[in-house]
Amino acid sequence: MPGGVNSPVRAYQAVGGSPPVIAFGRGARVTDVDGNEYIDYVLSWGPLILGHAHPSVVQVLQRAAERGTSFGAPTELEAELARMVIGAVPSIEMVRFVNSGTEATMSALRLARGYTGRDRILKFEGGYHGHADGLLARAGSGVATLGLPDSPGVPKAFAEQTLLAPYNDLAAVRRVFEQHPDEIACIIVEPVAANMGVVPPADGFLAGLREVTQEHGALLIFDEVVTGFRLAAGGAQALYGVEPDLTCLGKVIGGGLPVGAYGGRTEIMQRMAPTGDIYQAGTLSGNPMAMAAGIVTLSILGVTPKAAAEQDAARRDAGPSNEAPTNEGCYRALDELTSQLTDQLLVLARRAEVDVQINRAGSMFTLFFTDAPVTDYASAKRADTERYARFHRAMLDRGIYLPPSQFEACMLSLVHMEADVEETLKAAGEALQEVRT
Ligand SMILES: *Cc1c(COP(=O)(O)O)cnc(C)c1O
Repeated sequence: MPGGVNSPVRAYQAVGGSPPVIAFGRGARVTDVDGNEYIDYVLSWGPLILGHAHPSVVQVLQRAAERGTSFGAPTELEAELARMVIGAVPSIEMVRFVNSGTEATMSALRLARGYTGRDRILKFEGGYHGHADGLLARAGSGVATLGLPDSPGVPKAFAEQTLLAPYNDLAAVRRVFEQHPDEIACIIVEPVAANMGVVPPADGFLAGLREVTQEHGALLIFDEVVTGFRLAAGGAQALYGVEPDLTCLGKVIGGGLPVGAYGGRTEIMQRMAPTGDIYQAGTLSGNPMAMAAGIVTLSILGVTPKAAAEQDAARRDAGPSNEAPTNEGCYRALDELTSQLTDQLLVLARRAEVDVQINRAGSMFTLFFTDAPVTDYASAKRADTERYARFHRAMLDRGIYLPPSQFEACMLSLVHMEADVEETLKAAGEALQEVRT
């Protein structure tokens, strides 16, 4: 396997050394093949909001496996998860399941292009939307970690269709639209950026994107692959009160199995085959294993198919609403524990006289080694990656498993406990002292 991994961010190229080989995970912890145990803040890069091997997830997977792992035909499970997603995410009236976040964004872009009859798309520097051609321009995440420019292998003609603007820069977005009138099919954006490290949207940024796209007849796509059901049951769109035309989901909705989804207004979604003329398909799409894991995960987050169905009916009667049926309690608990961790990390960094900025949104955060606020890709890139590498190693040595890149998000799960946070803070206090110079 190139670099010994099946996804580049897993290699330790940016932080040095080689990655632990994981034997198993339980709750908030993973254990490697040498028997070392770590508190896990990667959580498979986002999906595991219930932690590893949650008993309910394991149980439904066993049951689902016994009934057959794939049929390539309609099942009740996919309908149930669809009802949950539609009920919970404000802007989704119709949804299609795919097998990864990459497939979701790729398909949503095709739909936006087919629907508007335009070819160009606008994405943000440092925004990651999977590895589809045309989405790799300044793609943050692994591309930034490895210092790769834009990937070879993407035809120039495709790359040219991708326009770029700095995140949180509405004026730049307006300029791009003025330079390319009637050419832009859509804006695709992470409503809270998580792949250049966590960067929340500035006040009015998302609402501004909604406005510009409407003015110019373009669609607004929220890539909520990481934020969906992590920040709130309705995703970032519920939190910030801005409704996109299309939403991409993944990660949490598969409960740790390969999954993705895209959805939006019925009028747009019906352009997909077989009701419409835009093609997209998948042998294993909506497979019972992923659907079962997704259903039980969303259930534990408070999204019930019943509540979702009621919500859906109520919405049809009452028009649009931002109220999603959520278990407020779990998101509040995640928020509180995470802020407890980040508040204390700041105190420890100050004590060690190390310049840091901590950006947090709900249960995800990034500790940037820099003295200036991080609001976009350019400011993220000013962080001291060499210091991050040493910090990462110092934490790993103390049993804390952080993402092996300055430009990724740390995540907490519902099974991270205060004791885990305390253990993490103890390690961080020592690690920060170690990276002072
Ligand atoms: C992880 C991620 C993707 C890609 O999802 P895969 O399942 O890895 O293909 C797309 N967009 C965002 C915002 C992500 O965080």
